[in-house]
Amino acid sequence: MTTRLEKLEPIVGPIVIDQLRRMAEQLGSQRLVHVNSTRSGGGVAELLSSIMPLWSELGIDARWEVIEGDQNFFEVTKAMHNALQGFKVTITNGMLQHYLEINRRNADRLEFDSDFVVINDPQPAYLIQDMRSRARRWIWRCHIDASRPDRKVWRFLREAVRQYDASIFSMPSFAQNLPHPQYLVYPSIDPLSEKNRELSQEEISAVMERLGVERDKPIILQVSRFDSFKDPVGVIQAFKMVRAHTPCKLLLVGGEANDDPEGPRIFAEVQEAARGDPDIKVLLLHPESHYEVNALQRAADIIVQKSVREGFGLTVTEAMWKGKPVIGGAAGGIVLQLRDFNTGFLVHSPEGCALRIRYLLHHPEVGTRMGRLAKEFVRNHFLVTRNVRDYLALMILCDNPGHRTMAI
Ligand code: UDP
Repeated sequence: MTTRLEKLEPIVGPIVIDQLRRMAEQLGSQRLVHVNSTRSGGGVAELLSSIMPLWSELGIDARWEVIEGDQNFFEVTKAMHNALQGFKVTITNGMLQHYLEINRRNADRLEFDSDFVVINDPQPAYLIQDMRSRARRWIWRCHIDASRPDRKVWRFLREAVRQYDASIFSMPSFAQNLPHPQYLVYPSIDPLSEKNRELSQEEISAVMERLGVERDKPIILQVSRFDSFKDPVGVIQAFKMVRAHTPCKLLLVGGEANDDPEGPRIFAEVQEAARGDPDIKVLLLHPESHYEVNALQRAADIIVQKSVREGFGLTVTEAMWKGKPVIGGAAGGIVLQLRDFNTGFLVHSPEGCALRIRYLLHHPEVGTRMGRLAKEFVRNHFLVTRNVRDYLALMILCDNPGHRTMAI
């Protein structure tokens, strides 16, 4: 049977695969646990699904644990998420106490003894308080844009984070004042997953038919959780400006995530903004609709991710990998991916977004060229093999803190 690493080899090259094997060998057999707050929906779940299958092939005994919480807990963690991304929110001491209580209950419930634990985002950050002795090294992996956090919320979270051995951020500007090493690791996508594997034209057409999407006009697409940071209403505004002059249609595709209680409210706002417009289709998909999202991204002519805050933006990476021209909000990790006028366009407003959509509709050859560059950029920087390499390097470094160089 062909292993996943063998299947990745023609895509990333033998040198990359060989390097992973040598690093894993140097690390030796290790136990690794990833912890987050949902198994599906959103970028972190996507990322973990793509990394997990590679660990066992590299001889690492890895597990993925998901914490459990009630509605109130996820209301608090979403408020924390918003506050860390710089929005004004009210979080009372009672809310923080509930957050701590749920972390304590999860610490009682989770059963692991490990060499390394990677805790993703704020939701499970306080597990360390009760579980410190259950792993040799604790790493906090922050996926959100924490460059300008609300001070009160960050002070609270920092009490837990400072107890970790290291932390990981997606951009240098997200790094914080912490008493341990901080690493920069970009997220990644798996080119073999249902979300990203090649599809035939027949497969794409069948999905479009099933979802009731006619391909009679150029399709502009944004795929995102229904979240105000993703600015779906701004996308509708941009679309309406374009459509006044140039025929096209807009697809807004989103799904729910268990750990995001704001979704239904934003979904209702989006439906209201789109009401009565026959060229706008809002699709609510099941969070596991990876194949459908793949087909939609491949059917689209232009892909938009008009976020106003963004940790990284895997939807951008996915669209670039499919060779599509992408227009992204100049926020967080989107800026790392879209080199303006080269691998995509960066925009700051609905007007700017409209201008770029119109330009691409009138110059499809520019879009094709951008898409080609975008795909190669992803191949070189944002595939899962690079992410696994970074994690292996980090584990080696955590165990050899005095070493300044690594022979691999
Ligand atoms: N996604 C999906 N269906 C949806 C909305 C999003 O499968 O209806 C996926 C999307 O393809 C991407 C991830 O969820 O893989 C979102 O990651 P991103 O980093 O863009 O944003 P986040 O949700 O983590 O803020």
